[in-house]
Amino acid sequence: MTDQPTRVPADLPGSIRHYIGGELVDSADGGTFDVLDPVTDEVYAKAAAGRAADVDRAVAAARAAFTDGPWPRMLPRERSRILHRVADIVESRDARLAELESFDSGLPITQALGQARRAAENFRFFADLVVAQTDDAFKVPGRQLNYVNRKPIGVAGLITPWNTPFMLESWKLGPALATGNTVVLKPAEFTPLSASLWAGIFAEAGLPQGVFNLVNGLGEEAGDALVKHPDVPLISFTGESRTGETIFANAAPHLKGLSMELGGKSPAVVFADADLDAAIDATIFGVFSLNGERCTAGSRILVERAVYDEFVERYAAQARRVVVGLPHDPATEVGALVHPEHHAKVMSYIEIGKGEGRLVAGGGRPEGFPAGNYVAPTVFADVPPTARIFQEEIFGPVVAITPFDTDEEALALANGVRYGLAAYVWTNDLRRAHTFSQAIEAGMVWLNSNNVRDLRTPFGGVKASGLGHEGGYRSIDFYTHQQAVHVTLGAAHHPTFGKGA
Ligand code: NAD
Repeated sequence: MTDQPTRVPADLPGSIRHYIGGELVDSADGGTFDVLDPVTDEVYAKAAAGRAADVDRAVAAARAAFTDGPWPRMLPRERSRILHRVADIVESRDARLAELESFDSGLPITQALGQARRAAENFRFFADLVVAQTDDAFKVPGRQLNYVNRKPIGVAGLITPWNTPFMLESWKLGPALATGNTVVLKPAEFTPLSASLWAGIFAEAGLPQGVFNLVNGLGEEAGDALVKHPDVPLISFTGESRTGETIFANAAPHLKGLSMELGGKSPAVVFADADLDAAIDATIFGVFSLNGERCTAGSRILVERAVYDEFVERYAAQARRVVVGLPHDPATEVGALVHPEHHAKVMSYIEIGKGEGRLVAGGGRPEGFPAGNYVAPTVFADVPPTARIFQEEIFGPVVAITPFDTDEEALALANGVRYGLAAYVWTNDLRRAHTFSQAIEAGMVWLNSNNVRDLRTPFGGVKASGLGHEGGYRSIDFYTHQQAVHVTLGAAHHPTFGKGA
């Protein structure tokens, strides 16, 4: 066992319930599922296991709030005020939120705190955006005035993963609500704790009842029912690519609007002319932050041969110094992975990696952590592009390093996987920086930087990493209809049929 025991937050709920039509409720059939503490793998709570009947109830509440309630009809400024209050409340409770999130997910407390603040920022950003929103009008002189009538769509189904639960929920809730939709959120079953705070936050901020609804449960049950519900015209999903494929197929008969933020295997490409100190720091953070459970993790590092040996040696030495610890300890840099199932998956990839590359750091459980979902920051060098640890998303603190000799080879390696979420390029050559970045098959590229988000920019992946983009006005577009209204000026302009002799 670890030297120190896990720290259980005060006032932890023993049961986690749905929130439907302004009330906390159990599942219609009384079903529950176990929620585990990732440090001990002991059950600390039971959560209501939603099924189709519970999703039906939640959708009916959201639908009623949409058709009969004030929310879609309020002025953007009025909605914006409420959403700013949501942000204020989230900020004022950031320490509590971080404590619960860290306990439930195993994320290091300092990083969970950062995610809580980002959640508040997401609400502020979209609250401001809808107030500043303008839409197009087009004039055809003397003939027409045509304008865009933007309107909310209805009940948005929001399905989220467990890696940064509260923050990713806010990323969908912010724009869905700001644009006047009502929602049903289905949070990830591994981490339902922080989501249970939304009900109180929204009620306190003055969100009308029925606008926000939450159904806990397993993906194949609650998530599936939401995707197949005929009164849910929109699904915003973040999760694994394989789940995305299933959801895509299940939504097809309903022709739903879909936004898919899926998996990644993002390259960090380090050229010999790069600032090596900065590149090493950033690529260490890029794959070991958030326990490596990060969709945009730079989990493949491609390094130009001239600096390869030095890079690998320094990188491995620094990776061995990354502090693994209890999630609640502010000194911890890598905590416990979310769940024993996920831990087993990451550990199995490490075993696969031992036959595919040269292990230079980590390689299993960290010393002093014989129990719980701990994984030592693990580095494989000389990994060939055919290796499974090069091709497949591991979603843990495991990185593959591969050398290259030319820009062409680096590009082929960078693009030689099914994913295309993010890429990081390290070079001081201006022309190469832009030419190379533009040729990478990735939805987002950072030059000489880690993943530092500008909320106005598009967020999303290409290839198996996703479909559609959110971020800034693109989120507003996803959550609204843009109806074109055509106004005739002067005489009607159309050919005349049926007036012949
Ligand atoms: P997951 O696909 O297993 O689950 C995500 C959500 O989908 C959960 O709420 C789950 O209950 C639900 N779900 C599962 N099966 C379903 C079904 N058949 N119908 C409807 N809903 C279903 O993903 P995860 O393991 O929770 O999260 C990790 C994955 O998420 C990684 O692949 C990661 O890269 C990805 N991710 C992507 C982004 C991004 O923005 N691109 C961000 C974070 C995480």
